[in-house]
Amino acid sequence: MLAVARLLPRKIRNTLLKSTSYVMGKISSSGITSIRCLGCKNITVIQPKEFNFSVVSVSEELMGTQTCHRTAVSKPCKKCGKALQVTYSVWEYPEDTFHGTDVWAENAVVIGKTGFRVTNDESVKLAI
Ligand SMILES: [Zn+2]
Repeated sequence: MLAVARLLPRKIRNTLLKSTSYVMGKISSSGITSIRCLGCKNITVIQPKEFNFSVVSVSEELMGTQTCHRTAVSKPCKKCGKALQVTYSVWEYPEDTFHGTDVWAENAVVIGKTGFRVTNDESVKLAI
């Protein structure tokens, strides 16, 4: 996904990086997500504030608690009406530490990803 984000023109990429941040529970979201419709190639943008995270799994591992925060955003393509969906899983492990992001899309290709971090994480590990 990182490689794909680099394909965006510099101007758009800079705009993505400068767009607003949003905090939902323990997850801070920064920058928009852009997806390309598989039906008509139209690009749809999802703002950080549209992500509504909830905890979907908690487990005790070797280094402590592992928590999976998940959000799914669905919207129709403005051009062809196809139902588009983006889902992010943000992993917190151990507690208060950002551990990675998974993203997948339905009926679309992700071409720009939002960066996430765990709000209590002191180390800077912004994943874009
Ligand atoms: Zn479309």
